[in-house]
Amino acid sequence: MNRVFNFSAGPSMLPLPVLEKAAAELVCYGESGMSVMEMSHRSPDYEAIIKKAEADLRKIMQIPDNYKVLFMQGGASTQFACVPMNLIKKTGKADYIVSGQFSGKAFKEAQKYGDVVCVATTKEDNFDHVPVVTKDMIRPDASYVHMCFNNTIYGTKFDYIPDTGDIPLVADMSSCIISEPVDVSKFGVIYAGAQKNMAPAGVTLVIVREDLLGNVLDCTPAMLDWQLMAENDSMYNTPPCYAIYVAGLVYEWIESIGGLDKMKEMNEKKANLLYDYLDSQDYYVAPVKKNSRSMMNVTFVTGDADLDKKFASEAAKAGLKNLKGHRSVGGMRASIYNAMPYEGVAKLVEFMKEFAKNNPKK
Ligand SMILES: *Cc1c(COP(=O)(O)O)cnc(C)c1O
Repeated sequence: MNRVFNFSAGPSMLPLPVLEKAAAELVCYGESGMSVMEMSHRSPDYEAIIKKAEADLRKIMQIPDNYKVLFMQGGASTQFACVPMNLIKKTGKADYIVSGQFSGKAFKEAQKYGDVVCVATTKEDNFDHVPVVTKDMIRPDASYVHMCFNNTIYGTKFDYIPDTGDIPLVADMSSCIISEPVDVSKFGVIYAGAQKNMAPAGVTLVIVREDLLGNVLDCTPAMLDWQLMAENDSMYNTPPCYAIYVAGLVYEWIESIGGLDKMKEMNEKKANLLYDYLDSQDYYVAPVKKNSRSMMNVTFVTGDADLDKKFASEAAKAGLKNLKGHRSVGGMRASIYNAMPYEGVAKLVEFMKEFAKNNPKK
């Protein structure tokens, strides 16, 4: 077995103990005589798997009892439509914070369903930091405020939770979910596609405060109705069974290493190693403003597109894969989610030093 350090933004690395456990159980799960992939989602074995996954997630994230946990399909992008469909009916209005590409897409999608405005953006600065949002910027009759907590493509993260008063705050946390503790009670809704930091692609997590349910637009497809999903314990139809099972293994793994406090400590240690190196030299430039730096996605450039290209290709040969930045921004991006070991980041920093030495700029 020769596993590489995979810096992909998503789908991305899963913890090795999780993959090994899934492999050991792949053909025959427990006493069931079959694979989890082959099980009826209504069987007692599977019921136990999904119930335990939810219970473990509630425990590690300390999700308050007045929040529902839903396992849905369609990725975070489907939630871009679910959010207005489930929440905008109250006043017909919603306010969006646009801090990168995904929040831009969410904003665009929501415009189909009501009076939707962008109240803050850092587009004019190429999204190199997150906007400052204060309560007075939000329309008092907005049904909700939408934000993206960690901007996967630009490598920025909110270093604060915007105060929206009584207006529910909805956060796309696809690329930072379960990377550190969050105060769930500060949000009306948190959602996340699984394939960045939680599980294989196919399942989308939605955590929604109960009082926000039951107000869907009439046009909402049943499959996108949070209330219906909640009433059916995410089993209105066949859920993405296997992806939920792997998510459950990931939650177990986080518990076993000491929960989200420990996870945060490990993630900070990795991110600091990389940012400290970036700050110590001038061959590479980290374009993100310091107070907006993401702990999960670290972006940097050499300032020379040909060198950037060479960097990504030589790094791949050295077992450091998928360091090319997003196609829309170029440069490099190291996605260092929960499953990336410290050694992977240490090896990357050593590689960066070598590369800078061997490729002097003209
Ligand atoms: C990847 C990503 C998305 C899109 O997720 P899909 O599951 O592919 O729809 C949305 N938001 C953020 C923050 C992401 O990182």
